[in-house]
Amino acid sequence: MAETSVGQQHQKEQGHALSRHRAERTCIGCRAQREAHDLLRFACTPQGGVILDGSGRASGRGMYVCCDIICLRKALKPAKLALALKRPVMAPDFDTVYQEVMRLLYKRLRTCLSLGQKAGAIVSGYVPLRQAFVQARVLYLILAEDIATGRAEEYRSWCTQHGVPYVTLFTKEELGHTIGKPSRSAAGFTAPHFLKLLLARLTSLERLQTADHRA
Ligand SMILES: [Zn+2]
Repeated sequence: MAETSVGQQHQKEQGHALSRHRAERTCIGCRAQREAHDLLRFACTPQGGVILDGSGRASGRGMYVCCDIICLRKALKPAKLALALKRPVMAPDFDTVYQEVMRLLYKRLRTCLSLGQKAGAIVSGYVPLRQAFVQARVLYLILAEDIATGRAEEYRSWCTQHGVPYVTLFTKEELGHTIGKPSRSAAGFTAPHFLKLLLARLTSLERLQTADHRA
């Protein structure tokens, strides 16, 4: 009897942990419900300021916003903030918040790459990449912004030939550093799981950058 109740309690706790992990939150900009880890969290400081909570775990009342410039602009209005945080607050400077959000997104992108590298889901370096392309293992390619023109054309032609999408991101130095290597012109993703994560991060970045003119 006691054993059963312990078992049930354990199951209940697991269930709670799972629901916390998958918790959905509402964006105060567009009211859409999304999983908390897909949203940006802002927290209220005791002084009545509003800060971007990169960890998602800062104390104080929090509110969630989509990684989307339209939602951010709507959400960071004093009236919206006061309503969401249930107290009058000082609205932060939009450009400062925007820069912080961009830094956070790049950090999350780098984390995704570094996790992928640790899990053996990334191929880099000319020869290993050529081999991975021949073996049809590359699902997605990151090309460095400062890659030499000839080399870039070669990588793009491999992508075209094998139907592999690519994106231009980071400098060679940044790309290499992120995956614990010397400078790298390109890095290929070979595992669907990490690719899904990368694409979600890239979509967030795109929604923040390309919508600038819609402000
Ligand atoms: Zn939204």
